[in-house]
Amino acid sequence: MKLIEDRPNGQSIQIWECRSCEATRACRPGWLTRCHVCLDERTDPSIAEAYGMIFESMITTDEERQKLRDIYGVGANEWIDDVDAHGLIMYNTVQDELLMHERPGWSVLAADIAGLPWGGHSGRRSSHGVWGRHDACGTVQSMRAVECAVCPPTPGSRTHRARAESPQLLYLVAFDDPAGVGSLVKFGHGSRRRVLDHISGGAVPLLVLRATFRQVVKAERKLAARYGCDAVGAITGLPASFERGTEVVPAGLNVDLHRVLSGTGVTDVTELFSIATPERAPVT
Ligand SMILES: [Zn+2]
Ligand SMILES: [Zn+2]
Repeated sequence: MKLIEDRPNGQSIQIWECRSCEATRACRPGWLTRCHVCLDERTDPSIAEAYGMIFESMITTDEERQKLRDIYGVGANEWIDDVDAHGLIMYNTVQDELLMHERPGWSVLAADIAGLPWGGHSGRRSSHGVWGRHDACGTVQSMRAVECAVCPPTPGSRTHRARAESPQLLYLVAFDDPAGVGSLVKFGHGSRRRVLDHISGGAVPLLVLRATFRQVVKAERKLAARYGCDAVGAITGLPASFERGTEVVPAGLNVDLHRVLSGTGVTDVTELFSIATPERAPVT
């Protein structure tokens, strides 16, 4: 195996290319990397044999047979053995995986498919992922990323990174459940529109904090971790904007937004919503 990318940008990944079949493979540094496709003395011969048998039924037309002979450079009267058949299936498996991750602006470089070339998944199951190069900047990155980690986000991008510094609201609204569960509160994050939706559904804003999207998302995760197990869920009578009720909890839990979101840049904007609150009929 020939090393073609060694820890690009300090990331813990290496990309190798097989000197024999030129298939690539991504692997963590320090691992003993072998080709996805080529077999060696470590391969159980029965696996290659089994693939040979599978392969027989996959090749049905003369055209397919010829293609296979061309690929392996074998003559019309020569046999393609089990090892060749196994290699071809592995090669196609790798190509399919790379094709699946193709997208405009990126060149997919290598994948890591656990189990290959042994042909089964009885070995380690974790994969080192699919890696590609962002054409615009040339950096090698995991194809799992929604956008390039190096290039500035494209205007209008809705990913968290692009929105990280834009303002966002963390809110707590109250709602008296008509089904008799008692006073409930809903926490969450979103835009002004989101809070207004809750208000028009009958909720009352208790506290609305404004901070950056990054801060608010982090704070909301803390709330979800702390109060998620107390959520009432999709009970009847909740405003439609409360959706499945995963952030709706009994008011008695005293959900404290300040505890998860404080410091510079955090502004209390509850006042902006109190004028939007409709007059509620006194409870008799
Ligand atoms: Zn190879
Ligand atoms: Zn880039």
